[in-house]
Amino acid sequence: MRSLIDILELSTEEIDALIDTAQDMIARPEAYADACRGKILGTLFFEPSTRTRLSFTSAMMTLGGNVLGFSEAASSSASKGESVADTVRMVSAYSDIIAMRHPKEGAPLVAAEHATVPVINAGDGGHFHPTQTLTDLFTIKRKKGRLEHLTVGLCGDLKFGRTVHSLIAAMSRYADIRFVLISPEELKLPGYTRHEYLGEGKSSFSETTDLEAAMPELDILYMTRIQQERFAFHDDYLRLKDSYILTPEKLKNAKPDLCILHPLPRVNEISVAVDDDPRACYFEQAANGRYIRMALILKLLSEKDMPDQNKKSQKEISLDGAVCQNPRCITTTEQELPQRFRCVDREHGVYRCVYCDGRVYPKANEKA
Ligand SMILES: [Zn+2]
Repeated sequence: MRSLIDILELSTEEIDALIDTAQDMIARPEAYADACRGKILGTLFFEPSTRTRLSFTSAMMTLGGNVLGFSEAASSSASKGESVADTVRMVSAYSDIIAMRHPKEGAPLVAAEHATVPVINAGDGGHFHPTQTLTDLFTIKRKKGRLEHLTVGLCGDLKFGRTVHSLIAAMSRYADIRFVLISPEELKLPGYTRHEYLGEGKSSFSETTDLEAAMPELDILYMTRIQQERFAFHDDYLRLKDSYILTPEKLKNAKPDLCILHPLPRVNEISVAVDDDPRACYFEQAANGRYIRMALILKLLSEKDMPDQNKKSQKEISLDGAVCQNPRCITTTEQELPQRFRCVDREHGVYRCVYCDGRVYPKANEKA
């Protein structure tokens, strides 16, 4: 049985097949109207995300299935201190597949290890949100007809934006992708993300602080929100905030077939004056989310009886006394979970928490 926690658990061939299925679902909706008849999706949302929850609900209902669940932790037994493992054991008895959102990073992995049905990560803290990335890829494929040979501009908060990190990870596996990273100095792409996905000739990239200067070469422009609280000095925020707001003026030198994306919700980073521009694809992107989630639900349900051969291949190691220091990690609230690590780069001594991918610095020697 297979779950989906991280977008990289899907090969590019599988992503291409999901996109083909989603396209077919749009073209021939009647062929899928009963595809999940009698099946139940459990939506376990330990933090509210109305947009994502409605997208999953709509996806399952369009497939003829049913949905049950909760939309915030306060209305679940988590508020009484029930562990994630116990919650999913219970919900596995009532549903055929689970979509889970949790504020703690790694919680969906814990769920997948204890559920007897497939688990889809619907967002865990600042960590992963694979169905958002699938939505992004599906939208790019629909608009451009390809996922290769593209110049992709990523603009805004590249330091904390998980959607940006996942999109880079997913797209750097396609041929001839060039990334243009557009952000203030304070919010540049972190070094580890750059090293893991862009380093050593994996994909070419350039960095700039100037959105307008980068505009003419872009095929895709992915906008993200810049949050005021990310800046140490309010003056820096005031100085920078307007330079990353997309306006018709800034689009003057853009390609006529540019595709503008945004994971939504937006606050003010794209002016509403851009909405009527045919290059604005972000509302269509939200609509696409339903179809790619339908394709994913169908795939995981149809592969339910098959063994999972796609788990991360890196072997787990034990590190004497090491504890994950990430305050957003699920191990900080569920203290009965064992501390588990994997070695990412033995040469440079890079170890990461299995749950949240947070880096750990072992004091003692590792044991095999
Ligand atoms: Zn952790």
